Amino acid sequence: MLYTSTRDKSIRVTASEAIAQGISEEGGLFVPVDLPEFSVEKITSMVSMPYIDRAKTVLKEFLTDFTDEELDYCVEGAYGADKFSSPKIAPVVNIDGNKNILELWHGPTCAFKDMALQLLPYLMTVSAGKTANGKKIVILVATSGDTGKAALEGFKNVDNTKILVFYPVDGVSPMQKLQMTTQDGENVAVCAINGNFDDAQSAVKSIFTNAEIKKQLEQKNMMFSSANSINWGRLVPQIVYYFSAYCDMIDMGKIKAGEQINVVVPTGNFGNILAGYYAKRMGLPIKTLVCASNSNNVLTDFLKTGTYNKNRDFYTTTSPSMDILISSNLERLLYHISGENDSLISDLMSKLASDGKYTISQELLDKIQKIFDAGYTNEENVSLTIKEHFDNYKYLCDTHTAVAVKVYDEYVKLSGDDIPTVIDSTASPYKFSASVLKAVSGENITGDDEFEMVDELNRVTGVDIPKPLVSLKNKQVRFSDVCDKEDMSRMVFKLLDL
Ligand SMILES: *Cc1c(COP(=O)(O)O)cnc(C)c1O
Repeated sequence: MLYTSTRDKSIRVTASEAIAQGISEEGGLFVPVDLPEFSVEKITSMVSMPYIDRAKTVLKEFLTDFTDEELDYCVEGAYGADKFSSPKIAPVVNIDGNKNILELWHGPTCAFKDMALQLLPYLMTVSAGKTANGKKIVILVATSGDTGKAALEGFKNVDNTKILVFYPVDGVSPMQKLQMTTQDGENVAVCAINGNFDDAQSAVKSIFTNAEIKKQLEQKNMMFSSANSINWGRLVPQIVYYFSAYCDMIDMGKIKAGEQINVVVPTGNFGNILAGYYAKRMGLPIKTLVCASNSNNVLTDFLKTGTYNKNRDFYTTTSPSMDILISSNLERLLYHISGENDSLISDLMSKLASDGKYTISQELLDKIQKIFDAGYTNEENVSLTIKEHFDNYKYLCDTHTAVAVKVYDEYVKLSGDDIPTVIDSTASPYKFSASVLKAVSGENITGDDEFEMVDELNRVTGVDIPKPLVSLKNKQVRFSDVCDKEDMSRMVFKLLDL
């Protein structure tokens, strides 16, 4: 299996090259040249497998330059040995009738990013061993919360890597901040910046492309790479759990092999839902992929009208991991749906960079709408949805999941399409305790001790607190540096001893 770029389809690289490099030189994203096909028989054969074997079965088709031993090492390292609090890794829970929740947050940081970021460090070190001549890989991350912690936890103490994370000083939840500042590991560093997420992201991008810094790194036998979802190594692990969920639905007697399901995804950067699209293209019987957004509904508008326009108000919501106006992975979808039209994609992306918007043809929109539906919801509905699902089904969901659940309910009402459905749940409710507690109790909770909030939510709901969050309470803060965004490159030099 070879990979090409969304902006230049003459490019051919191996999986290892795509993963080690992160992004193609002309700015395009790596995509598979063709997709493997999974027959109903092949899918059925995966029903009796544990998650680790389902993962090997799917990943084997994409990482064809990995040996079986390498793949075993990667997958077992990521999902084995009690790293996840559920033996099923990504369990499916039935709520009511055809409504099922796929819980993707049983990993060490209690958010769905672990599904990919536990595996990525293994994929990356094996890939670098094949392509980068033993260079040390330096992962630079700008985060609005979940990615930073999940990447730290994935890369900590991984040989031949170093990871530096920058977060906006006032832009993450108290729990997210504690998770990062108490991070252990010999090869990690965390720094807050005076600025917002976009400032951190822009500074990281400019450090990445700074020729002087690159030269200095090379002299020390180091290279930069990226742990965010532009990297193919972040996307490919996510395809696995769609197959796994489908197998679980068969196993639970919710569907027969070959029967179609719908999938609903709380969406930000369009990585998670894109993995669902790849699964569908590979033969997994998914009928419709429903893209759920919060008030930052740039994707809802795009999927309904064909115009992508990021020139709009930005809202800070209770589902911060979806507060995003530029969904990078949409580029991959457009490439595939347009029949691999790389010059069209280059045009659209340069329009997005210069004008902040672009419009696709009606023909292209029709094709997208055959596969995708979309909706968004507001803060009040998120809160009501959390309460209603707790009161009626004793199911406690976090704010991001609640967005998806509400959009799904609306979708069924409007379309009448109530076939068996899997709704992705992307975070533990305890990562957003204040908002969830407020929703469940109906009281306006204020207070600054995050752990009191966690205990109170536990008292009110009786839902178990994830162990990794409990153990944070006794951890020492290791990283308290704050720097101005102009000083970030100097900080990188200092942290890397350049
Ligand atoms: C990252 C994240 C999302 C958005 O996922 P994308 O792949 O960026 O669309 C949704 N919910 C949570 C909790 C997240 O951390």
